[in-house]
Amino acid sequence: MSHPHPDLSAPAPLPAGGLRVIPLGGLGEVGRNMTVFEYDGRLLIVDCGVLFPEDHHPGVDLILPDFDPIRDRLDAVEALVLTHGHEDHIGATPYLLRERGDIPLVGSKLTLALLGSKLREHRLKETAQYEVAEGQTITFGPFVLEFVAVNHSIPDALAVVIRTGAGVVLHTGDFKMDQLPLDGRITDLNEFARLGDEGVDLFLTDSTNAEVPGFTTSEKDIAPVLDRVFSKSEKRIIVACFASHVHRVQQVLDAAVAHGRKVGYVGRSMVRNMAIAQELGYLTVPPGVMVEAKELADLPPHKQVLVSTGSQGEPLAALSRMSQNNHHFVHLEEGDTVVLASSLIPGNENAVYRVINGLSRLGANVVHKGNSLVHVSGHASAGELLYCYNIVKPRNVMPVHGEIRHMRANADLARATGVENVVLAEDGVVVDLVDGVAKVVGKVDVGYVFVDGTTIGDISEASMKDRRILGEEGFLSVIVVVDSVTGKVVSGPEIHARGFAEDETTFDEIKQPIIDALDASIADGATDAYQLQQVVRRVVGRWVNRAHRRRPMIIPVVIEA
Ligand SMILES: [Zn+2]
Ligand SMILES: [Zn+2]
Repeated sequence: MSHPHPDLSAPAPLPAGGLRVIPLGGLGEVGRNMTVFEYDGRLLIVDCGVLFPEDHHPGVDLILPDFDPIRDRLDAVEALVLTHGHEDHIGATPYLLRERGDIPLVGSKLTLALLGSKLREHRLKETAQYEVAEGQTITFGPFVLEFVAVNHSIPDALAVVIRTGAGVVLHTGDFKMDQLPLDGRITDLNEFARLGDEGVDLFLTDSTNAEVPGFTTSEKDIAPVLDRVFSKSEKRIIVACFASHVHRVQQVLDAAVAHGRKVGYVGRSMVRNMAIAQELGYLTVPPGVMVEAKELADLPPHKQVLVSTGSQGEPLAALSRMSQNNHHFVHLEEGDTVVLASSLIPGNENAVYRVINGLSRLGANVVHKGNSLVHVSGHASAGELLYCYNIVKPRNVMPVHGEIRHMRANADLARATGVENVVLAEDGVVVDLVDGVAKVVGKVDVGYVFVDGTTIGDISEASMKDRRILGEEGFLSVIVVVDSVTGKVVSGPEIHARGFAEDETTFDEIKQPIIDALDASIADGATDAYQLQQVVRRVVGRWVNRAHRRRPMIIPVVIEA
């Protein structure tokens, strides 16, 4: 993993009275956010999310933060604070609880409700939960926590203030500053300013949109665009968005009512989350608008709206199945309209375009953020971040939540407002706040933890590499039998390939060079099968690379008979 501090070694012990920050995930990628704070031997964790795999992680379901650096100290964990209910913040919680089930979980009402359904899926029943709201203070060991309302692309998001003997830390979580949000709950800049007056020693800020100039557009600005799409559509409308984007779904429900259509949810997480949001009062469902998705098909197409999962091109989600025409009850037709009311998370581009192409092939009109304002980001743009730095006036800033380019851009914004000390750290890079100054002090080893079906962490980066090679370059096996007495090749080489050249005569030209190389190395004194196999691998590897520009996996087998 790249990071700006390649030469760091393990950090020295934390000086008394200092606060240590150990990012285990989310710094250097958009996903699997998890940050550990250490004070006086005790630990506080903020967020515990997942990262969704990309094309170069074949067969992987999820990627978790690496718990290794704190695995021996889980007893010292005072609490896990969840800033909001997005998967990249709560998704890995069940996996952490498998290692210590009674870690106190702290979050807002909606966050804990969304987490709750996830915990039930993992059959985790006896958990300790503390519901908090903005303005509230709660103490866990040496950590005095206070919560501040922030606006984001999911309701009920919180920033968290962490007070210890080392000073005041403000962690924004994910946020933006929409001034006209659907629920009227804006980021509490009064509180940010008050904390600024008190003195913020370390400000951890969301970097996702730091490269985007200006201010993030208001969620409400999508409404007229949706209205236009609904007016123009004569057939069925399918809107795909995040299954937790309550306000986006709210706007779709409102548009459906205005245009006399009925709505059905497709996708398990959409059905489940919207039921929670409705029950807790975060989603207002106009009477009579909802219909079971399966029954919706009985209505004429111009009366139907489906709200679906799969906006990131996830291969098993509803939208992806529709794009391949293998969804069990939604079959797209010429003239249907599909709206991708969603972001394009870095890394998902190929998958999303694959889905858009599939939908287009079926004759659907696809409306997406590339051709209409059907999505606004959930994250603060550069203008909002500058604004925050100016009112919080922090002593030290640590950009979080983003790839390195996002964090660098965020660091520049902080410096532009006069923040003197900005620490740039990626996953595993340890930052200490001592005597009011934050500094990089070392690094701990963190890797990617892959979840594959029911196994967690058993897949190494090496076997991931094997899968990539097998998937992209194919496989070659070379079997040779050598007489153990004379050292002569008595049978073979027999070469078989998969996902490489299908015509096996391709390999005729390399057979004699293999035999020659084996003879030469046996004459040089090579005796054991392992050495001879390396000879075969080298000869075949060079030849495929030179003659075919490929690097398949090569399995040489030398049998001594
Ligand atoms: Zn979020
Ligand atoms: Zn996030």
